[in-house]
This record gives sequence, C-alpha cells and structure tokens, in this order.
Amino acid sequence: MRPALLNPLFAPLHTLKGVGPKTGKHFERLLDVPQGEPRVLDILFHLPHSLIDRRARPKIRDARPDQVVMLEVTVAEHRAPPGRNSRAPFRVLVEDETGDMLLVFFLANRDWIERSLPIGAKRWVSGKLELWEGHLQMVHPDRVVDEAGLAKVPLIEPLYGLTEGLYQRNVQRAIETGLERLPAMPEWLDHEYVRQRKLPSFNEALQTLHHPHEPGDIELESPARVRLAYDELLAGQLALVMVRAHMRETRGRATLGDGRIAAKIMAALPFSLTGSQQQAIAEINADVASDKRMLRLVQGDVGSGKTLVALLAMAHAVEAGRQAALMAPTEILARQHFERLTPLAEAAGLRLTLITGRDRAAARSKALEALAAGHVDIAIGTHALFQESVRFHDLALAVVDEQHRFGVHQRLALGEKGEAVDILVMTATPIPRTLVLTYFGDMDVSTLREKPAGRSPIETRAMPLERINEVVEGVGRAMAKGARVYWVCPLVEESEELDVAAAQDRFAELAQAFPGKVSLVHGRMKGPEKDAAMLGFQRGDTQILVATTVIEVGVDVPEASIMVIEHAERFGLAQLHQLRGRVGRGAAKSSCLLLYKQGLGEVARARIEIMRETEDGFRIAEEDLRLRGEGEVLGTRQSGAPGFRLASLEVHAGLLGVARDDAALVLARDPKLLSERGKALRILLYLFERDEAMKLLQAG
Ligand code: ADP
Ligand code: MG
Repeated sequence: MRPALLNPLFAPLHTLKGVGPKTGKHFERLLDVPQGEPRVLDILFHLPHSLIDRRARPKIRDARPDQVVMLEVTVAEHRAPPGRNSRAPFRVLVEDETGDMLLVFFLANRDWIERSLPIGAKRWVSGKLELWEGHLQMVHPDRVVDEAGLAKVPLIEPLYGLTEGLYQRNVQRAIETGLERLPAMPEWLDHEYVRQRKLPSFNEALQTLHHPHEPGDIELESPARVRLAYDELLAGQLALVMVRAHMRETRGRATLGDGRIAAKIMAALPFSLTGSQQQAIAEINADVASDKRMLRLVQGDVGSGKTLVALLAMAHAVEAGRQAALMAPTEILARQHFERLTPLAEAAGLRLTLITGRDRAAARSKALEALAAGHVDIAIGTHALFQESVRFHDLALAVVDEQHRFGVHQRLALGEKGEAVDILVMTATPIPRTLVLTYFGDMDVSTLREKPAGRSPIETRAMPLERINEVVEGVGRAMAKGARVYWVCPLVEESEELDVAAAQDRFAELAQAFPGKVSLVHGRMKGPEKDAAMLGFQRGDTQILVATTVIEVGVDVPEASIMVIEHAERFGLAQLHQLRGRVGRGAAKSSCLLLYKQGLGEVARARIEIMRETEDGFRIAEEDLRLRGEGEVLGTRQSGAPGFRLASLEVHAGLLGVARDDAALVLARDPKLLSERGKALRILLYLFERDEAMKLLQAG
C-alpha cells in the first residue's frame, strides 16, 4: 500500500483549483499518462522547457526582433479590422518617447482590448518582438498590465509545453496549487552523496524548477534537475534489481507451436516477410519454445512491420493451445490494431477481442467471459487489459506496443495475468544498444532494420513558404491522379488562436481550390467531428487532410502518399520523421514537402538537411540527440529518456551507472528495505510508481 504521505500527490488532477472538466481533458492530452487520468504528481513533473526573462526593459528604439522584452508604452491608437467578421487582426499602436510599434491580436476580443488597452493609458507589455514588413510588432503579448499589475509579474517566468486548448496560465496555476500539496519527504539519498554533489532536497528541487531565479536553474545540468533525474533513475534501478532477481527465480513454460496458423496467415498475405521480420520471428519462437521466460524488445522504425511480427508470435502461442494479448498505448491505436488484424485473423481462424476503457458494459462482460473461458485466442486493448476483471484462460504471451509509454511495472502487471507469461515489447524509438540493458534490464533485442520490399523511398524536398502556390498546384496535379495528402500546420506554442486560425485559413484556401475534397482536424474540434473528418479521409471521400499536430502517432492510411509540413523549422527531427512516416506505406511513390520560413537558424537547417538525406530512423535518432539542446524546438515535450520522465538520455546517462551501483549496494545490505534509508527508499519507489518491486518485497 502506498504510504498516506504521498496521497496528496496521487490525487486526481481535477482536485486542483482551476482544473475543470474541459481543461481536465486538455491536461489529459498534455500529460498523456498511461492510466488516462493525470494526477497532481503528473503536473508537478511537467517541468518548464524554457523561460521568459523580463529583466530587459529596453526603449522601443533599442528593442530588437526575436527578443522577449518588457516595454513601458502609452496606447496611441486602436486599429480595428474592417467589419466584425474580418479575419484581419486587431492592431494597437503603442509608443514611448523613442518610437512606436504595433501590438497584434488575431481573432481578437474587442471588449478585452478596449478595457485593457484604453487610448492614452500607460501600460507594460511583455512578449516576443518581430519584424513585419519593416515594422516592429508584438503578436499576442503574454502580459498587458498597468502599474498595479506590474508588481505581480514575475521577472523570470517558466514556460511549459502546452497542448491545444491550454495556455501557460492554466498550467502555471495548476502547478502553483499542486506545489502547495507537496508533503515533507524524508531524504532517501545517501547523505554523503548529497553533500558532495551539493544536491538540493527533492522538494527544494521541484520548487526551484518551477520558480527559477536564474535561467540556468531549469537547465538539464542544474543541481535541481540532476537531483530529480537521479531520484528517478535510482527508483528505476532499484525496481530492476528486484524484478530481475524475481524473474530469475520463476521458471518459464515452453510453448510449442506447430506453425499451422502462421502458415495460414502467411498464405493470406499479399507479400512475403522481410529478412529482419523472419529473423525476429525465429528469435521469438526460439525464446517461447524454451523454458526460460522471454523478455524481448523488438525495435523497428515506423513502417518496418512490427505488427505482423507480433501477430505471428501470438499465432505461435495459439497453436500451442494458449492465449496472447496485445496492448497499445491509446484507444485509437488499439482499435486500429484490431481492425487491421481482423481480416488476417479470420483467414487463419484466430478469435480476436477488443478490450478498451470505453466498451459498453454488456459487450464487455461478454468479451471478458469469452476470454476467461478460452473462447477467445487474442485480446487486443489498452491499459484496460491490466484491470482486475480481465482474466485469461491461459495467457502465454503479452505483447506491449510502443514501450516507452509504459513502465516496467505495467509490463509486469500483464505478466501476472498468466503463468510465466512471455513478454514481447515493441518500440519505434531507437535506443542505442549500449543503453538497452540499463534501461530495460535483462532484455534481448531484435531489430527490424530493413523496410518491407517494394517501398519506394520517400522523396523529401524543402522549400521556402513563399513558394506555396507551386506546392498547391503540384498537389492538385497529384490529386487528379487520385493522390491523398496530409497537410500539417504546426502548433504555435504561445497561442492556440493563432494556431487554429492558421489551420483554418489553410483549410479555407485549399477548400476553395479543391471544393469538397478537403477535411480539417484540430484540437478544438469535438470528438465526433474529428472522427468524421478522419474517416472521410481514410475512405477517400476527401483527398486532403489539413491537420494541426493531432495526427496521432501510428495512424495508418496506406493510400496517403504526400505529406506537406508547414513551418517545418518548428518541429524536432523525431517529430518530422514520425510525420513523414505517415506516408510511403502503400505502393504509390510518396513525397514529403518541408516548407520553411526564410532565414533558418543553423540547427533548423541541419535538421531539414538530415531529413532530406536519410529515412533511417536510427540515424535520425542519433542526429537528433546530437542536435537537441542546441536549439529550441517548439511544440515538443520536454520528454525524458524512454520510460523516464525527468531523466534525459543525453545528459544524465552518466548518473545511470551511479544509480545502478547505489541500488545494488543498498539491496545487498538491506534486501527488505528496513533500515532508515531503506524506509525512505520505499517512499521513493512509490513516488516513481515502481511499486511492483514493493509487491515482490512483500511476496518474497
Ligand atoms: P510498424 O508498426 O512497424 O510501424 P506496421 O506493422 O504498421 O509497421 O506495418 C506498416 C505497413 O507495412 C502495414 O500496412 C503492413 O501491412 C505492411 N507490411 C508489413 N510487413 C510487410 C512486408 N514484409 N512487406 C510488405 N508490406 C509489409
Ligand atoms: Mg505499429
């Protein structure tokens, strides 16, 4: 049982002030935790990715574009757009004794502008400056305050990753109220280590990261961040040491298939397996047939055909008269697996069922009964598969897709649903070989390096946004031949209005060029509306899907052959690669167009260059590591290493070895964690949700 001390941190997020039903949904998307509903802890671990430093107070004459500044100005003039329905922005001319500039508001709320920026009033405005047609302007200032308001504006303000529908102030407010709930924690680190490395306590570290005094405070190398990273790594290593010991104690069970179902699947496929797929399947079948428990990772880039490998492995278990489960990280992906595998399963006589959090009660209890009675061979689902009520007749193999979203404890939870369950983990995130062992423990690895045959390479081109008309013409020609096109508009972090407006504008323009042929999806749309747009595109009723970055990872429309990415310079490499991976899945020759804004920085240029050079996800991952941190990427989450939220592969890898030794030493001396430090470490394990290890302590 989790210590009561930690309860405030594990309370649902919506118990915080300012998190309502609607923002709650957005937070769910932002924090994206496997169990769906985020908790107070999840928002506290959502660390700032950068900050606004308002200590600079230049005069307008001295202010430079691309700088975040705080300016003292007098409101001179309101320039409302013509007509209420105009898409033109509302502009406000402001001045000081050295010059003037414009504040620009898209989709403006006029009442708010008239109230907050009355003509003649003195105001302090903060935001990023830019140059537009030779004039200095500030689009959507982050603060507009009077003298009284000024006192409350922090000079250094952390900025957080957002998702559509959330603003900085929503996240900041949730974090403020969340921090108030932080209980006093015991010190679980070795006191000598803390002293030598001059580390703050866990609570101090969190406070500093959310209330930085200096820009350096939020950096990955800062003592505060190192402290949290080490805590997380230590919890992970402790759990791994305990789990490994346990795994070694329990024997596996040999599962021997005879190949008859696999043969039927192969006969139903219009293609043959790649060499990598064959090898992976051979490795898996050998593991499963032995009486050791399998713990294997299948790494393969998007589109390398991991799902088929999983299906054949599951077929093997069913041939032996046993069952298998396939777990996906999201509802959409679980459904997609189910739909794609159904025809093959039918051809091979496999009985599938889908279990997710959204099933109707009646259908669900029927599915659960069939599963428990052994009338179903394979269960596909989300984390709902972990629930108590889910029982298998004889589970032999659990396949976990997109590993990095799940922790060790969840793999283990599935493993507990049968006798000596074999575990296969699939990930599209390439992890350097040397790090696999430390991150995932005793895992064997199969790598799908080859792409399925018959895939022509994706032609990737980069061009400046100014040439968009040519792109539209080219897209039109391809559409006349039946092509389907993704058109991605990026997330503008500072403002959702801008972002949705950009996508809506692009949609309107394209819909005018291609009437009836264009769909739009963005995060402000309702679920059914979004589903309808996706479905129209999937069926080919529409040929262009204009989207903000809501296109889920893993969504599969094989007919789509063109990917247009606007403002490609705002995306990270991994993101660009993921997006590009949405095309090139069918027979048609595919292309990817990266439209960039002139005046690329060095890092953005390098990213685009790498995209043009290679489609190799492993190479791209390496380059990404190299470039990351050197330039800021909009819209990306400050995500940690696979399976970690605070520790980062590139910066904290060195701590991993220390944590591993620390864990081994502690457990050698105090295997039951009963000493004073041991007791504090128990709290650490719960805090980072490695409690499966605690169960082993109690069982053993
Ligand atoms: P991943 O999960 O690795 O991203 P998928 O398993 O979704 O990739 O496979 C992508 C597409 O490639 C699917 O449409 C699948 O049917 C197809 N595919 C898988 N293996 C092969 C193969 N050996 N030859 C041709 N196409 C394949
Ligand atoms: Mg997949």
